[in-house]
Amino acid sequence: MTARMSEWRDSDPGNDDSEEVFGLRKVIHVDMDAFFASVEQRDEPELRGKPVAVGGDGPRGVVAAASYEARRFGVRSAMASVTARRLCPALIFRRPRFDVYGQVSRQIREIFLEHTPLVEPLSLDEAYLDVTEDLKGIGSATHIAQLIRARIKAETGLTASAGVSYNKFLAKLASDQNKPDGLCVIRPGEGAAFVAALPVRRFHGIGPRGAEKMQSLGIESGADLALCDIHFLREHFGSQADYLYRAARGIDLRRVKANRARKSVGAERTLERDLSSGPALRDMLERIIEIAWARIEKSKAQGRTVTLKLKHADFSGLTRARSLDAPVASRAMLAAVAHALLDEVLPLAQPVRLVGLTLSALDDDAPAAVAPLPAQQAQLPF
Ligand SMILES: [Mg+2]
Repeated sequence: MTARMSEWRDSDPGNDDSEEVFGLRKVIHVDMDAFFASVEQRDEPELRGKPVAVGGDGPRGVVAAASYEARRFGVRSAMASVTARRLCPALIFRRPRFDVYGQVSRQIREIFLEHTPLVEPLSLDEAYLDVTEDLKGIGSATHIAQLIRARIKAETGLTASAGVSYNKFLAKLASDQNKPDGLCVIRPGEGAAFVAALPVRRFHGIGPRGAEKMQSLGIESGADLALCDIHFLREHFGSQADYLYRAARGIDLRRVKANRARKSVGAERTLERDLSSGPALRDMLERIIEIAWARIEKSKAQGRTVTLKLKHADFSGLTRARSLDAPVASRAMLAAVAHALLDEVLPLAQPVRLVGLTLSALDDDAPAAVAPLPAQQAQLPF
């Protein structure tokens, strides 16, 4: 029995007579499709429709990501590049451009944050979102997932797949279900059946070796796993046993942890008189760098993205941002990036009335915000 998939409209929450109701949330897992390779194909149109691997193509190179065209030949990430080329002689290699991937990552993060502060990134290109209480009051996790996918496509030119369900484990399984450019919803009451039909190697947290071990124990599918009692699982899988026991039943008690708040440090100044000349703006920028750097030092902020913001006399805005590989470590570094950004926009078409400079993409160790479990969510539209 399989769950209903790829449904885009809302329906009733379904019969829910199972234990999954406990701690029910609305969770979306968003995962960009073949992320690094898709970015390269986006930025270099000649690569579209062709097998592309991002990674080193030398004798010791490793594939970091493969386009769907390359995957058809069996090329996979983490594979030795030599092997990949043997499988697919026409494979085109590109060096990773992490600054660009990081930029796209921040773009999609901003889209997520418009819907909920509870965003837990797993990597540059995937995140869990808890939208049990969404900021726009949309109410339907399925609808939010559609909106997010459409916005990502419109703003980045890239496709994302999304899984919608009532916990993290199921949402992640769901996002993988209809890749690429897919959506899958596992509704309350459907989780156990969905999981039963899947091979255990698709479970998050079960790597190739774990799957091999399970196979040797006769566990191939979620249904097989559900037949194992907790003592057996503890004996063979130690600390993972509780997670597996629940996962086999479509249960996952882990919360979506927003471990990075959107934050920036900086300064901005509204000018006494509108400026348009390069030298005058550079002088003004110097003063803003001074103030911004003092604040950055004081807050001990470690950030990689520098954004220059200008506001024209007619209040229209202009921003330029640059993300670095490492945090901005000195005033000189901040100033160099800030002036480079200003140079990009000069000469100005019209005078500006405000100049701002911020540092964002901050690394911090702020304690994770934990979402409280709602008392009763079973009646909410999904
Ligand atoms: Mg991905």
